[in-house]
Amino acid sequence: MCLSDVERPVPLHKPTFEGNEWDYVKECIDTEWVSSVGSYVDRFEEDLAEYTGARRAVVAVNGTAALQVCLRLVGVEHGDEVLVPALTFVATANAASYLGAIPHFVDSEERTLGLDPEKLGAYLDDTAEVRDGTCVNTQTGRPIRAVVPIHAYGHPVDLDPLQEVCDEYQLALVEDAAESLGSLYKGEHTGTRGRCASLSFNGNKTITTGGGGAILTDDEELADAAKHLTTVAKKDHEWEYVHDRVGYNYRMPNLNAALGCAQLEQLPDFLERKRALAERYRQAFAEVDGVSFVEEPDSAWSNYWLNVLLLDRADLERRDAVLKVTNDAGFGTRPTWQLLSSLPMYEDCPRMDLSTAEQLEARLINIPSTPSLVDT
Ligand SMILES: *Cc1c(COP(=O)(O)O)cnc(C)c1O
Repeated sequence: MCLSDVERPVPLHKPTFEGNEWDYVKECIDTEWVSSVGSYVDRFEEDLAEYTGARRAVVAVNGTAALQVCLRLVGVEHGDEVLVPALTFVATANAASYLGAIPHFVDSEERTLGLDPEKLGAYLDDTAEVRDGTCVNTQTGRPIRAVVPIHAYGHPVDLDPLQEVCDEYQLALVEDAAESLGSLYKGEHTGTRGRCASLSFNGNKTITTGGGGAILTDDEELADAAKHLTTVAKKDHEWEYVHDRVGYNYRMPNLNAALGCAQLEQLPDFLERKRALAERYRQAFAEVDGVSFVEEPDSAWSNYWLNVLLLDRADLERRDAVLKVTNDAGFGTRPTWQLLSSLPMYEDCPRMDLSTAEQLEARLINIPSTPSLVDT
């Protein structure tokens, strides 16, 4: 890869449409099946379940809606706390907030960029106890119902020790797998370990449906409930409108699912090219002082959704200088998310010591990661 040959600006990540997208979308229009019922919606769910190894997949309008439904179905209620990393996209915390729950922020570890299970376990030993099968925050008196790890930038979080913490404290494990389609933890697809998980097919993700998401689960009952809740809780009937609770209009339209089917067919190819790109970055940055390229954690296989550089020093000014120089030169580099614990709507939420996440915020830079970059 010779930088001077690359067409600028180089975006951080853009969609790649090289397969059957036009044919499948055209078929929706020709047959008039464009909305929330149609053969591609069902097929996309089957294809996703088969690809990930989850027993069931239920599609939704976006990843945030999928996560909201996951949290609701594992029992998160108004006034509950939900443990989420401080270092994540805002949607992870918003999904809990939509249910009236309170995000409770957890630190990350440098190795995986995801939630730190060991630190979480030690923290809960000091601040929580299980009463009648429910984890209670002894400081706030509120139930802590669930933990939502993310697989940051596609790198799998360490799920084994996290699962142990969840078992000990009776917490539902819900994976926000929005960024990790194609990533494996100990040979299993991310999003298949917890009670359920959410995926995202937003335009910047590894595959896209324009906007879209899905719920993965091995629990048939939970999957049926998810389908019901995302389709306005309408009871099956040929013509009658009978709804048995306040459901959501969250079903992915057939048009979007058509794109999804075409994209999923190309996923193995995208993953191969993304790994080749990551390998080139790894080699290129091995020689550069002051910065390191983040490789997949041990016992994981990463989709390298967005490639990550870590500056050796936590210095926001230096980070911003690097971002400015690279963006001015036409390379779409980006900082990580501002820690959610410092956003105005979440600044009063409970949190543990967040020192590693704070360091990562000042060190992390994403670099262009579109699969087709390897062809240049
Ligand atoms: C993209 C993303 C989401 C939200 O997905 P949408 O489809 O945009 O609603 C949630 N969590 C994380 C970590 C994400 O990266």
